[in-house]
Amino acid sequence: MEREKLLRRLPPVHELVKACSGEEKDGPLHVLTEAAREVLNDWRGLILEKGEAPPALAPLAEAVKTRVREKLRPHLRPVINATGVILHTNLGRAPLSAAALSALERVARGYCNLEIDLNTGERGSRYSHVENLLTALTGAEAALVVNNNAAAVLLALHTLARGREVIVSRGELIEIGGSFRIPEVLAQSGARLQEVGTTNKTYPRDYERAIGPETALLLKVHTSNYRILGFTREVTRSELVSLGRKYQVPVLEDLGSGVLVDLQRYGLGPEPTVQASLEAGVDVVTFSGDKLLGGPQAGIIVGRARLLQGMKENPLLRALRVDKLILAALEATLREYLKGEAEHTLPVLERLFVSPDRLAARAAALKERLLARLEGACEVDLQSGFSQVGGGALPLTQLSTTLLVLRPKTMSATAFAAELRRRDPPVFTRLQDAGVLLDPRTLSEEEEEPLVEAVRAVLREPAQKAVFDRASPGFSRQTPMPLSVAPPDDEN
Ligand SMILES: *Cc1c(COP(=O)(O)O)cnc(C)c1O
Repeated sequence: MEREKLLRRLPPVHELVKACSGEEKDGPLHVLTEAAREVLNDWRGLILEKGEAPPALAPLAEAVKTRVREKLRPHLRPVINATGVILHTNLGRAPLSAAALSALERVARGYCNLEIDLNTGERGSRYSHVENLLTALTGAEAALVVNNNAAAVLLALHTLARGREVIVSRGELIEIGGSFRIPEVLAQSGARLQEVGTTNKTYPRDYERAIGPETALLLKVHTSNYRILGFTREVTRSELVSLGRKYQVPVLEDLGSGVLVDLQRYGLGPEPTVQASLEAGVDVVTFSGDKLLGGPQAGIIVGRARLLQGMKENPLLRALRVDKLILAALEATLREYLKGEAEHTLPVLERLFVSPDRLAARAAALKERLLARLEGACEVDLQSGFSQVGGGALPLTQLSTTLLVLRPKTMSATAFAAELRRRDPPVFTRLQDAGVLLDPRTLSEEEEEPLVEAVRAVLREPAQKAVFDRASPGFSRQTPMPLSVAPPDDEN
């Protein structure tokens, strides 16, 4: 009965809508009405379940307005990545270079010569925009670009080995990112998997014994998201190439990340370059566009012209093709490599190569900025630590960095991280013991101010926050996404 009375205290929808003055009232009325209904429904639930007293009209209207803002803003939006994981699949992998962004904009704004040969005026190939760049950069005879690397592997297997056998080492039957499993992609391509060797040791003779009239391909997969340590024996790229030559079977290598620059110059790796794989005699190499290459999502196939011709003529290519936006961004990214500027202009490489001294200086400056704005609401310390490459590249590489450790005085680190993630723009951090860690490695200079402001707002505006949560329980019910803290080691 008490609850009945409380229910009657909730305003009718039209009254609540009327109370929502301000810019939100200018939004579409149906959105406002829907938001008001939702807020009232949430409160009906709370009253019936817990007998909680509903707030007054003004805070209810605030909750409705917050909800309208939520509904009207884009669902896919930029976030600040302070996790230090350079290639975070869940956060969209590679940030693009300025050159790629302006190419995207130029091509997207109007029409373009996507499939027109400007010399003859006749139909051209969309792949022509990047093929020469890719062959020039890698030394390959031919190149092709599809939707992503999984598609590249699928197309290569479907073209070269459908209905026949593909030999793979058991140590390379990997799963990447929970959805790309070599045995499953192989099955989808129509090829039959012939496993050889054991998890930790595979010898050339294992392949040799398995090669027969049904063998279409020798497949090597870069075990990009894990390493088998201890007693191991892997058949090297050159050994596989020798076997392929001896038995006239092509060798396909799925490199995963696709690095074009020698990482060892920067003390990183070893991570095979595309050029090295081709130089060793591998016939077809596939890799991603948005991992260490630093471009848009794409699957790149390079190798022998004879073998790629079949892929170019495969009807499956039509289903895996890339659009003009991807081609624009990819071409611009590749041109940075051709100009020899990629290491300075591609955010992925720049973040990979930035010196620990520079990171320490940036962390120290950010600490001062935070302290000046937080007025004692939070302890801020510096701590040396590591960043991760992510994206299935260099899984064991620990990149030295300087982390900021934030320990708020008024809330737990977990709650703090969750609130940061709910800001606009959302901020993703790492959690460690009782602190929230920020890694300057993955922050751009322009993101520092919004980051500082998000931290300040979360710590300085708890009261407003409480009303907002009580008035719209729908928000507080969201379970925090685990990725705000978890390193994506197997997420590629
Ligand atoms: C990441 C990866 C893939 C999948 O690439 P996508 O571009 O995400 O489709 C395939 N193989 C290897 C070895 C990888 O590391």
